[in-house]
Amino acid sequence: MPTPRVSFEFFPPQSLEASFRLWDTLGTLAPLAPEFVSVTYGAGGTTRDLTHDAVKTIHANYGVKVAAHLTCVDATREETLAIADSYAEAGVNRIVALRGDPPKGADGFRAHPEGFASSVELVKALADTGKFEIAVGAYPDPHPEADSLAACVEYLKRKVDAGASTAITQFFFEADTFFRFRDACADAGIGATIIPGILPIGNWTRVRNFATRCGAIVPAWLDEAYAAATRDGRESLLSTALCTELCTDLLEGGVEDLHFYTLNSPDLTRDVCAALGVTPRVTLAEVA
Ligand code: FAD
Repeated sequence: MPTPRVSFEFFPPQSLEASFRLWDTLGTLAPLAPEFVSVTYGAGGTTRDLTHDAVKTIHANYGVKVAAHLTCVDATREETLAIADSYAEAGVNRIVALRGDPPKGADGFRAHPEGFASSVELVKALADTGKFEIAVGAYPDPHPEADSLAACVEYLKRKVDAGASTAITQFFFEADTFFRFRDACADAGIGATIIPGILPIGNWTRVRNFATRCGAIVPAWLDEAYAAATRDGRESLLSTALCTELCTDLLEGGVEDLHFYTLNSPDLTRDVCAALGVTPRVTLAEVA
């Protein structure tokens, strides 16, 4: 089995303590020489400045390529493109372009009157600048707002046709879910690289709630496995084993890249990477 290329997603810290945690996470994972790391943009555009600061700090200090997430939520087109432009000026030329989640309490996405109305519009405008490599989100279990898997594939095609070169998927629990989606994308003529998004399960209750909100289908066997593991105090062991198995199945099915949702906790991701043969290639002193 070939060793995968990996990338890691972080969220921007909102307190001093959270900053230490992020730098600690980067200290553990940057030496694994990821293809890139990405920094999320808070729901409702809430972390605009924090995302910006974290992206620039990582870019300047950690010797890894950084992709900045950018959404359409609560900003004019001009404001959104100004943020993108400031990334380009700082030498950050990768953007993960998303429609975005609405702010807490809102009943759905509402475009700003002068803003981008959809992820397709955002991708097109970023592509028109000629400055960015653009990645987008993709949904192997249909997005909660989509009518079907076919609708998700069709919408991904529109984003790729608008200028995206890579898609990173929402997390899912079984490799076949990804393979079904990958095949449907290939049948639809989507040529972009589709990278599976992997969520190591740090806390099953939290991940389960999250899955329900974002449409990831939870197989019954997983509930049963965590019920037993929690009873026996071996939740963390189960998480490492399951995540390693999922990644192995994906790699055996021809996947070459894995994108880990780290939630700013490095241990599970590091352990799974080690099991897949991705180990520190450089010391932190060399990357930082
Ligand atoms: P889109 O592709 O725009 O929409 C999702 C689905 O909804 C489509 O597949 C389509 O079926 C349907 N749909 C949407 N709009 C239309 C339309 N106009 N016409 C027809 N069908 C439509 N959220 C954040 O707030 N910040 C982040 O940093 C962030 N990072 C993410 C990273 C990844 C890799 C992923 C997968 C998701 C991320 N999200 C983030 C969550 C994302 O913003 C939400 O899932 C959001 O609801 C959809 O945004 P999108 O651009 O991925 O989806």
